[in-house]
Formats: sequence, structure tokens, C-alpha cells
Amino acid sequence: MFGGIMLFSKFFAPTSRDVPADAKIVSHRLMLRSGMISQTASGIYCWLPLAVRVLDKISQIICDEQDGIGANRVLFTTIQPADLWIESGRYDAYGKEMLRIKDRKEGNFLYSPTNEEQATDVFRKYVKSYRGLPTMLYQIHWKFRDEIRPRFGVMRGREFLMKDGYSFDIDFESAKRTYDNVFKSYIRIFRRIGLTPIPVQADSGAIGGNMSHEFQILAETGESTLYYDKKLLTSSDDELMTTFAVTDEKYDPKESAVHEKDLQISKGIEVGHVFYFGTKYSKAMNTFVLDEKGEKVFPEMGSYGIGVSRLVAAIIEASHDDRGIIWPEAVAPFDVVILNLHVKNSKCCDAASEIYGAISSRKEVLYDDRDITVGEKLADADLIGIPWQIIIGKNKIESEIVELKNRKTGEAIEISRSEVIGRFVR
Ligand code: ATP
Ligand code: MG
Repeated sequence: MFGGIMLFSKFFAPTSRDVPADAKIVSHRLMLRSGMISQTASGIYCWLPLAVRVLDKISQIICDEQDGIGANRVLFTTIQPADLWIESGRYDAYGKEMLRIKDRKEGNFLYSPTNEEQATDVFRKYVKSYRGLPTMLYQIHWKFRDEIRPRFGVMRGREFLMKDGYSFDIDFESAKRTYDNVFKSYIRIFRRIGLTPIPVQADSGAIGGNMSHEFQILAETGESTLYYDKKLLTSSDDELMTTFAVTDEKYDPKESAVHEKDLQISKGIEVGHVFYFGTKYSKAMNTFVLDEKGEKVFPEMGSYGIGVSRLVAAIIEASHDDRGIIWPEAVAPFDVVILNLHVKNSKCCDAASEIYGAISSRKEVLYDDRDITVGEKLADADLIGIPWQIIIGKNKIESEIVELKNRKTGEAIEISRSEVIGRFVR
């Protein structure tokens, strides 16, 4: 990871102590109060610098794991011609969630709610032979769905950032391998972010039919109710490939294999979805390759989503206290915040400069150099939730002592300047 320093006085993070009245869940309140998002219309938000840094961290982890399984990153478009959706048969079926647009020549367009058609169209233009399979394209891009009830801030927005991937395989066996590879990479992604993913069986998994799993994160404010064996919470990656939770609609106590004493019922937030749908789009869009014998084969397809912007809220739901956000280290907007409690005291300023000068070569540092009260400064640091706080006060400054506080545990130790530098620069 590369380091860097940002001065809070120059950083656009408009924090606030006001509790927003219409924000019903904690992540929405904390994202507004910490100056991460600014609402522009119902379900449509501007993302401010703290939030952009978190989106970037999440995206980086996703790209790393997707590239690792051989997926190719692209950027499809946010605006698509209606023709592609007429061809697949989804233009009318998609209904009011789709934002339909006309250009100046009265041509019909739409803002992408998802990109199966477009991925298929790109594929068919270039891949003509079985040698081009398997192939997988993915992007991290904005979507628009005109949700009936946008709510909970960015959790269910109308404009939102999604990672969406599309795979093409020659037959079911190969498609199943791809599906399993994406499944495993999703587990790694959520674990690297610092979350405990719960796979949920969303479809029967019958050979030849559709196959679908969701990934859920436990949180009291989740919209789904999950039924699962408590061992899922401590399962290995491999075990998660074969043991799943089910949602309320699917739960039947008579059929449940789970022992009553091991059964857990909790609310969950859907953060990812993997889907195998066979030749649905390749057939509808006349997309085929030639096999070894020169015969037409319609590729077996899957699509794979992660709600990148929803994850920001889901992480906060899973990790906060009454003072604010507690970012997992892997996705924190900064690694360390330096709190200079007395910006008019030259000794405190010297200590701060020395410390950020040394650790910013390795860590991303926010230096709170603002001339505000001690109470406000400490409260803001807890609110924005950077994992480590280096607090420079005037009491011990003569003996070169500062305080190092862990945001998550609240544990604070007194430590010398050189020791604190040594902790972060190794
Ligand atoms: P939901 O049941 O929550 O509406 P979905 O089944 O419509 O989700 P997909 O089409 O599978 O969602 O999209 C992939 C991922 O995108 C979802 O798992 C979710 O994390 C995210 N997502 C979907 N709709 C929204 C939204 N309105 N706001 C934010 N994220 C969303
Ligand atoms: Mg939906």
C-alpha cells in the first residue's frame, strides 16, 4: 500500500453533530454525519472524499480477486440503446425500474440497470470460436434502478455502484467451474473487507436449470431473514461452498437439516449475487461460437454482482458503536489520523510534523490540523472511524510522549514519538 498525507483543514469532510431526523438506520445517519454523502434527490447521492476513498479500497480488493480468477475488467456504458433489450426480450418485461431516455433524434435509450445484453453483444462481435472460451468480462460502474421505495441511504439507492461480471463457457461443466471460482473469489473478497459472508441458496441448483446464490452480511437492519446453522459463521471457505442459509420464503422446519439447537435466525443484507442462467441470453441474441467440429454452440452464461456502494453502508451496519464508524483496516479511508489538540502550540506542531513526515511514506495519514476544540476533534475522530488515532496533547509533550488509540477497542497507550513511528514504519 502507498502512503500519503492529507490535512483535515483542506479535506472536504463536512462532519456534523446533528442527527438527521429522516435517516432511519445507523449507517445512513453516520454517513451523513461524517460527511461521506450528500443527498441530491430521492435515492441519489453525491459521494464525498471519505466515501470515495472507501469505494476505491473496496473496488481494489474486488479487482484484485477478480483479476486473480482470470476475469477481464472493462467499462460497459451507462447509457444503452433500447434495441439490445428488445432483442433479449427484456425491454418491456423490466418495467418501471428502468429509466428510459430519448435522444435528440427520438432514439430510445436507457440508463443501465444491469448489463447482460451489452456483455453478450460485445462478446458476439469478437468471439467466434470455442478457442475464445471460457471468457469473463467485469466492470465496476454506476447503475440506475428506479426503485419503488429507495430507502436507508445508499443501502437501497436508485443510482448505485455495482461490480457486475458476465461469463461465457462452452458447456455446463465448464460454466459450473466458472461459477464455483466466482463463488470462492466472492468469499475471499468479503473476508478481505473484514466481513463474514453468509451464502444463501437462492435457487434449486438443478443441473441444466438456473443456479443462484446470494451473499449476505448479518445486521439487525437487514431486509432479509436468514435461517442457518450457526457453524456457518465459523466455516472454512470450502465448507461455505456446500452449506448455505435459506431465506424466510424457503425455510421449512420439517425439511430443515439443521439441528434445532444449532439453528440461527438473523437479519441479513444482500451484498452479492451469483447467477447461472445457461443459454437464456446467448440464444435470444443469436450469440454462438463454432466448436471443434464447426458446429454452432450457444455459450452457457452467468452473471455476478456485488453491491459496491451498498457495501459501504453494510460495513458500517456491521461495525460501529455509539460514537461512530469503526472501519475495518482493509477498507478504512485512512490508516491513521493524527490529532494535534493544540495547533497553536509549536511543540505539538513539531511533534505532529515529525510523526506524519515519517509514517506517511508507508501509511495513509489524515492530519487533523484544524483549529477547533479538543472535544470536537476527539469526537470527529471517533465519528469518522479511522482505525488508529495518534493524539498529541500538551501535557506530556515535553517528555516526547503521545497517545496511541485503537478506535475499535478504545484501548489507548502512552508511547514515545519514536516508538509510535516504529509501530507504523517497519
Ligand atoms: P435486491 O433484492 O436487494 O433488490 P437485486 O436482487 O435486485 O437486489 P442484483 O440485481 O442481483 O440485486 O444486483 C447485484 C447487487 O447489487 C445486489 O446483491 C446488491 O448488493 C446490489 N444492489 C441491488 N439493488 C441495489 C440498490 N437499489 N441500491 C444499492 N445496491 C443495490
Ligand atoms: Mg432489486
